Amino acid sequence: MSFYLYNTLTNKKEKFVPLEKGRVKMYSCGPTVYDHAHIGNMWSYLTADILRRYLEYSGYEVRHIKNITDVGHFTSDDILRIEGEDKMEKAARREKKSPLEIAEYYIHFFLEDEKKLNIKNPHFRPRPTQEIESMIKITEKLVQEEYAYETEDGIYFSVAKFPEYGKLSKNSLEDIKAGARVDINENKKDPLDFALWIKRKGKNKNHILYWDSPWGSGFPGWHIECSAMAIKYLGDTIDIHTGGEDNIFPHHECEIAQSEAFTKKPFANYWIHTRHFLADGKKMSKSLGNIFVVSSVPDKRYSSLEEKGYPPLAFRTLKLASHYRSKANFTFKAMDQAKINWEKINEFYSKIVELLEEKNKKGGQTNLEVTSYRTLFEEAMDNDLNTPQALSVWLDLIKKGNRLLAEKTLGNPQEIKSLMENFDKVFAILKKEKSLPIAVPADIKKLGEKRKIAREAGKFEEADELREKIKARGYEILDQGKKYQLKKIKKTVNIKHP
Ligand SMILES: [Zn+2]
Repeated sequence: MSFYLYNTLTNKKEKFVPLEKGRVKMYSCGPTVYDHAHIGNMWSYLTADILRRYLEYSGYEVRHIKNITDVGHFTSDDILRIEGEDKMEKAARREKKSPLEIAEYYIHFFLEDEKKLNIKNPHFRPRPTQEIESMIKITEKLVQEEYAYETEDGIYFSVAKFPEYGKLSKNSLEDIKAGARVDINENKKDPLDFALWIKRKGKNKNHILYWDSPWGSGFPGWHIECSAMAIKYLGDTIDIHTGGEDNIFPHHECEIAQSEAFTKKPFANYWIHTRHFLADGKKMSKSLGNIFVVSSVPDKRYSSLEEKGYPPLAFRTLKLASHYRSKANFTFKAMDQAKINWEKINEFYSKIVELLEEKNKKGGQTNLEVTSYRTLFEEAMDNDLNTPQALSVWLDLIKKGNRLLAEKTLGNPQEIKSLMENFDKVFAILKKEKSLPIAVPADIKKLGEKRKIAREAGKFEEADELREKIKARGYEILDQGKKYQLKKIKKTVNIKHP
């Protein structure tokens, strides 16, 4: 079976073949931490997580890098001009903090949300403020080779020097110019040239974050940051680059131009983009009051799904119910359905676990065909991560499984449990097992005491025999110095989410 992914670069579904057998190098554009990440932002990070998990499920070793942008991202990243102000600095002024404090504050909430959504940690989260040297190095070479030039206010990449500019977004230079506003920056050779480095002068003379460079003090442009970090941590060519649809142009288009001009090699082989996320058919915006976040935050401008009674993993289930390339429209009706499905899946899983724990379980006669469910699940996922179809395979299994449970004829609960845990390596929506304290029966406690006495008397053989007896009854002894603890041995496999 082969894994197919839709590549924005070629506009078609392609068989996935990594550069190196069995290994995948993956880069995801991460958040700019000037504000709380809303559910639309998390939507795109969930796509990357599902993709990474499915690659790992399929046996690949994935190295995943996801940045945290803490400088250089302007409120308007119009290709023709850098306008407005640095998002980090704007937030710093709004909240009367330093940009660094702003970053730390919002990173905290972001990481909490990722954890609650079972989004795996990348192997590293580089931050541009720590990577300035690599950005200067690339910019210097681009200037030397005349891909870039210096002006009064910064260093610009010359799009005319890179004829393939537009290959990702399928924009021709003429189209971009025709659709854009007239440029007022007289310094640039071409209105489409974009900034690699911005000098701390003129309208940017008060920029708080700045570094020394061969062109005086200044700070990097947003696009160069991702190129520098991807190349530094993954190499000249990476397998997969992910991001939201709105990153295609100009951000990713510029990443390609500057990276490929720098390395003379392809930058990323597969570009995976998550389509727009709408709330009730509209773009989420503060003025419409329709921005939702995952978990409750102190900021009263936002309401959270958690406050409204929707656990983060129910939101993850909603994500699974929609294909990453179809326009997602968030509604509370859909959220309700996702919560029902999430609960249904978890309830069924608990019932299976309970059935396996029952002492005198009578095996039923009907076995659910685990292999065919697994095949259907993998076929769906292999087809450009068709999670809605894969989810329906899971729900169908539960429907049939519940009927057999009611009839007491389900014959292979252990296999079904393993199958669900396998699915969950990708879906990651099963609740973590609750470790409820269970009362230790009196006779087990007696055995524990007997062992303690034997142990203190140096009768280790007897102590070991008693330990085995206790174990046979489903309990284990944890020695803690002279004391000990009795614990029930868990029969179930722990579902571990990073
Ligand atoms: Zn990026």
